[in-house]
Amino acid sequence: MNRDALELLIRCTEELGLSLDSNQLEHFGVFADELKKWNRKINLTAIRDDRDIIVKHFADSLTLIGILKKTGSLLDLGSGGGFPAIPLKIMLPRLSVVSVDAVEKKILFQRHAARLLKLHDFTALHARGEDLVKNHDVRFDYIVSRAFSDLPCFVSLALPLLKGSGRIIAMKGKGGEGEAAAASRALDAVGVRILHCFHRKLPVTGDDRYLVVMGKKGSGDATADIP
Ligand code: SAH
Repeated sequence: MNRDALELLIRCTEELGLSLDSNQLEHFGVFADELKKWNRKINLTAIRDDRDIIVKHFADSLTLIGILKKTGSLLDLGSGGGFPAIPLKIMLPRLSVVSVDAVEKKILFQRHAARLLKLHDFTALHARGEDLVKNHDVRFDYIVSRAFSDLPCFVSLALPLLKGSGRIIAMKGKGGEGEAAAASRALDAVGVRILHCFHRKLPVTGDDRYLVVMGKKGSGDATADIP
């Protein structure tokens, strides 16, 4: 990434109330360059130029930071080119992150990026969400997804993998609030409650984003999970 792009990244993170150290800035730069390089050969993402990578991938992924604790375990279901998993791991190095996608080449890219960035406690798994529960007995504090599926389907995959007090968080665009309201009865039937629907605006574009936070019924105070 060139100097202008790095400055845009700093501006976006500042708008989100975050600050990047020089190491994190370098990591985002390397990650963006690798994403562009691999994208020329394999189709990782439709978003290809620096500005869009910064705003629509990096800043969008980082809208989650304010509602996550700095430690614990996080599963990203259907992470594609590594979103939001890799930006979160760059900013929250003590979070243990597992990133899953059904398409092997995307997971190979994420492993390559994680090696270059020397990310510790980051695992990229080639698997279908449906098969995870059969092969893994780990349970997560957070299960997140972006642009993955409708809420009931995401929740049905996430629920067996969630700790009792854990949170499922769906990252949604325009219409996210309506989707959450429409799904609430179906979620209730499987023992899941919508605890929050946070509204965020993307830096630069001002596009609406919604973070739909869900938990098992009886898993604690709805406000207690905001650090
Ligand atoms: N979260 C990324 C990618 C979204 S595209 C982003 O926001 O940029 C949705 C991704 O989910 C694709 O990469 C697709 O391969 C993956 N996917 C779809 N169904 C899946 C399933 N059942 N299990 C795991 N991954 C799946």
